Amino acid sequence: MTETGVVKFSCEHIAAEIETFAGFDELGACRDQLFARNLIGVDANGIAFGNLSVRDVEGRGFFVTASGSSGKAQLAPSDYALVTHFDLSRNWLRCEGAAVASSESLTHAAVYQADASAGAVIHVHTSELWNALANRAPSTSAEIEYGTPAMAEEILRLLTTSNVTAQKIIRMGGHEGGMIAFGRNPAEAQAMLMRFL
Ligand SMILES: [Zn+2]
Repeated sequence: MTETGVVKFSCEHIAAEIETFAGFDELGACRDQLFARNLIGVDANGIAFGNLSVRDVEGRGFFVTASGSSGKAQLAPSDYALVTHFDLSRNWLRCEGAAVASSESLTHAAVYQADASAGAVIHVHTSELWNALANRAPSTSAEIEYGTPAMAEEILRLLTTSNVTAQKIIRMGGHEGGMIAFGRNPAEAQAMLMRFL
């Protein structure tokens, strides 16, 4: 715990080579379009934002974009990490790959845990959509910061107690511009977001 009571994200990283994985091309095609529209990228302050993931068809976990990859125009398999274990309450995960998993990976993990039909998750930043959907989309509380166990718990709560599983979109109230969309595959997750843009 830090002084503010926030459990710091911790990642146990196992160096491994990821050559490719099922869904890599589909995720890449989806990311190309999100990147072109600046929904994933680097902001004016040099802060990288946005991440994508796909559930591993072999049941080992999920592949998520690595920390620091958001600014790259094209991603290779080595720009992803395979998250094999996680603990939402401890804000901890274990991953394999050349690089460490995105620090927002536990938000993805919460969606996969809550919705067995979710095969892909995307997290983008868009103030336009975030403002437009302020009272129209399921939203996490404004008091909850991103990357915290509270955010993961809030996502679990939303997915299990409301109709979010039908809408497949979540607005992150305490993370300006933050939106999550998910679906059975990357194309569906993207469509769930793009219908509003
Ligand atoms: Zn974010």
